[in-house]
Amino acid sequence: MSIDPQPQVDLSDANTLGVPSTADWYAELTNASDLPALVRWARERHLPIRALGGGSNLVLNEQVSGLTLKISIMGKTRVESDSGRLRWRLGAGESWHTTVVDLIAQGGSGIENLALIPGTVGAAPVQNIGAYGVELADCLHRVEAYDTVEQRWRRFGQQDCCFGYRDSVFKQLENRFIITAVELDLDREFQPQLTYGPLQTLASQPGLTALQVMEQVIEIRQSRLPEPIVLPNAGSFFKNPVITTEQYQMLLAEHSDLVVFEQAEGWKLAAGWLIDQCGLRGQNNADGVGCYERQALVLVNPKRASATSILAWQAHVQQAVKERFNVILEPEPRFWA
Ligand code: FAD
Ligand code: NAP
Repeated sequence: MSIDPQPQVDLSDANTLGVPSTADWYAELTNASDLPALVRWARERHLPIRALGGGSNLVLNEQVSGLTLKISIMGKTRVESDSGRLRWRLGAGESWHTTVVDLIAQGGSGIENLALIPGTVGAAPVQNIGAYGVELADCLHRVEAYDTVEQRWRRFGQQDCCFGYRDSVFKQLENRFIITAVELDLDREFQPQLTYGPLQTLASQPGLTALQVMEQVIEIRQSRLPEPIVLPNAGSFFKNPVITTEQYQMLLAEHSDLVVFEQAEGWKLAAGWLIDQCGLRGQNNADGVGCYERQALVLVNPKRASATSILAWQAHVQQAVKERFNVILEPEPRFWA
């Protein structure tokens, strides 16, 4: 085996929530061909294996068991395609945002609304990243991954990924597949997706380009979201709950100002609004963990408190929303123990 896992490696700077944490075992993977031997190494010792990207969607326990594999496989190549779209093959360790900037500069479009999402390309299919009405599923061609259970390479076409709202087979069967490469199909003809409020003003702009939409998305996000390096956070901490028509009607009867969006699968509530209504925006606990003052959905951790404190605040928010709206909020970041 060309990589030796290291014991007791500090992960405190490897997660955007800034949680103090140590990995039992850690290795950095730059070459996909080293993966089978590393998985065998962990399996022989009965250790769990987890893929780590940019750590922007994680709550880490003080001690993380098993083998943490930092995915640093790089590469960005144009590949042939008979789909008529521009196909790119990307290493899983590439930065997602840099990839968006690069591919748009190369004349592709379709991912401009997904600019400035932190993290890696390999993590993007895991929760089918989405923003401003666009999700990864819209442009994903294929995922290459190593199956840590069957110990063999697998290829997932778009349909095999079972994408849903912030969901996929990779999230459902958590930690089973380690993604090493992703192929995206970008549009040659720009078709803007401007349904979200902050982007609507662009609709009247003549000769609008994907680059301009991307720049607008970056500007909006910079003005609304805290930079993790300045104020540790993991983005939206809860998924927007999707409820049935019956639940929706009951809620509307009590809350006429309910913020809700009709979806194919039901009614999507804005989790940030629910939390805000409970008076929790800008509030925090003794360790400083709380709801960001400009967007209640973002949990912030200014003093780099532990996972215990974060989970306690999570429970506090869930309890408040349950009591007021009878809605259960599901956390979006993954918890590693
Ligand atoms: P990590 O946090 O390292 O890992 C997240 C999960 O993916 C873990 O389960 C991990 O095991 C798994 N994983 C990571 N890499 C691999 C791999 N190669 N193979 C298999 N599994 C893997 N998300 C959105 O959807 N939309 C947004 O607009 C958005 N905005 C955000 C804004 C901020 C300020 C922050 C901090 C986060 C935001 N997020 C958003 C959440 C997060 O950035 C995304 O979920 C991102 O895709 C996580 O990437 P990562 O590399 O940091 O993954
Ligand atoms: P926002 O514009 O304040 O909107 C609040 C919520 O309402 C969003 O969560 C969004 O749902 C929903 N929404 C707004 N307009 C909508 C429309 N026209 N149709 C359907 N749903 C609509 O949200 P924000 O916090 O500034 O975030 C902007 C975008 O970036 C959102 O898409 C959000 O998901 C994404 N984002 C995600 C994260 C994360 O960590 N996951 C972090 C920051 C931003 P959706 O979330 O379903 O889009």
